[in-house]
Amino acid sequence: MNPVRNFNKSVGKSGISNGVKVVFCSSEVFGFAKTGGLGDVAAALPAALVKENCEVKVFMPLYKGINPQKMHKGYGTTIKGGIEFFFIKNDEYFLRDSIYVGADGRDYPDSVERFSFYSRRVLEILEEVGFRPDIIHCNDWQASLVNVYLKTLYGKDKFFKNTKSVLTIHNMAYQGIFPKKKFSRIGIDAKYFDQKYLEFYGKVNLLKGGIVFSDVVTTVSPTYAKQIKTPEYGCGLEGVLAQKGKHELGILNAIDYDVWDPSRDELIYKKYSPKTLDKKAENKLGLQKELGLKQDSQKLLLGMVSRLAEQKGIDILSKALDSILGEHQVVILGLGEPRYHKILKDKEKKFKDSLSVSLKFDETLAHKIYAGCDVFLLPSRFEPCGLSQMISYKYATLPLVNHTGGLVDTVIDVEAGGGGFVFKKYDRGEFIKTVSRGARTFRDKKRWKSILEKVTKYNFSWEIAASKYIRMYKRLIKN
Ligand code: ADP
Repeated sequence: MNPVRNFNKSVGKSGISNGVKVVFCSSEVFGFAKTGGLGDVAAALPAALVKENCEVKVFMPLYKGINPQKMHKGYGTTIKGGIEFFFIKNDEYFLRDSIYVGADGRDYPDSVERFSFYSRRVLEILEEVGFRPDIIHCNDWQASLVNVYLKTLYGKDKFFKNTKSVLTIHNMAYQGIFPKKKFSRIGIDAKYFDQKYLEFYGKVNLLKGGIVFSDVVTTVSPTYAKQIKTPEYGCGLEGVLAQKGKHELGILNAIDYDVWDPSRDELIYKKYSPKTLDKKAENKLGLQKELGLKQDSQKLLLGMVSRLAEQKGIDILSKALDSILGEHQVVILGLGEPRYHKILKDKEKKFKDSLSVSLKFDETLAHKIYAGCDVFLLPSRFEPCGLSQMISYKYATLPLVNHTGGLVDTVIDVEAGGGGFVFKKYDRGEFIKTVSRGARTFRDKKRWKSILEKVTKYNFSWEIAASKYIRMYKRLIKN
């Protein structure tokens, strides 16, 4: 089945009526704190679950800058959009300028202490407030210990007797691996420092603990679900996942059209809809001007909004820039590894009129890039799901992607009737060739317009994903 075409159909409410009680645990939630896709998902999925009548409580740390509506002893709460958000307070651990890394760009050395504190508090607070969840749904290594504690410290606790646990892996490459000496900080029996549990080549691996102790493990796209069972993508945990066997599911992420919709977007230069696509040009000219590029609607403008990590294909992109920039323009918004910051800034000096590099996290500029560019670049080496390609479609910006992970499930090449440009080998030359193909298509104005009209109709809304999660929750509750 063609997954994109399947998504073209507008899907109504799932029709499942239910009252599933869900506790959703994430170290970031858009609207309060976000560094990447996890933040988007942790805001949008709970909202979609509530629309399907689930009762949802979201737990995250109380970071600097978050102001809860109410403070209680040890945590804050905010009610928004029918969801109760719990913010776990520990100023020593969470009142910091950035949420994961210090000024040196490295993970904080007390990450085990921070996230084991967070995880334990989730279960304590649930008992304090008397909320007995049917499902605890944890995300990534930072929240994995919630599910570990549920089966260890709380294994015999009657309060959670009927609670089932889910772990969603948003990226296998981030596992929360720490030195052995940190194990005692987790506070569980020493017998769990064993390769059957949290031990991983002599170290502590929090994500592994999450996988072992959760009732169900999922990831964020069908293709990535298959890939992570192989040594190439499993990052050493493929064997552990294989033991979970059939439990391992891939549910494609989606995007929140309340946040990402150019006809309602207050952050872009000029709003537009599929019927007024000509207004997109004002966004292109506005972006070129703001970023100091030559204002020219005929030049192909390629954009990228991304963490600057090896995963995202920055190495082939930076090596390709010399060939691309002679003819086209590129704008990059990103933050990440210092080595990439330097490489990109050096290129920017060389190509002042055609390359703009903004090294920061900037929600507004991100929206302007989705709206202003012709093509959005995702040359990822691997990609669990990727949200930017789905956002791009909505903004009538065509994604150019490497054929991997969630990008396989969401982008079909224009030559095969889809709405993007796909290269099938992670390679600088393939990437450059695909940019040229994109440029040729761009020059064929009639064809370009018809592709834009098509992609703006794609539907990647959370309704579909939420109904799949609910079906899985119900299956779990029943067993
Ligand atoms: P990942 O989670 O691997 O970083 P995703 O594609 O799943 O990648 O999600 C990335 C999200 O973060 C998108 O919403 C993207 O627009 C946003 N984003 C990434 N970098 C920045 C940045 N520097 N400024 C603003 N938004 C960013």
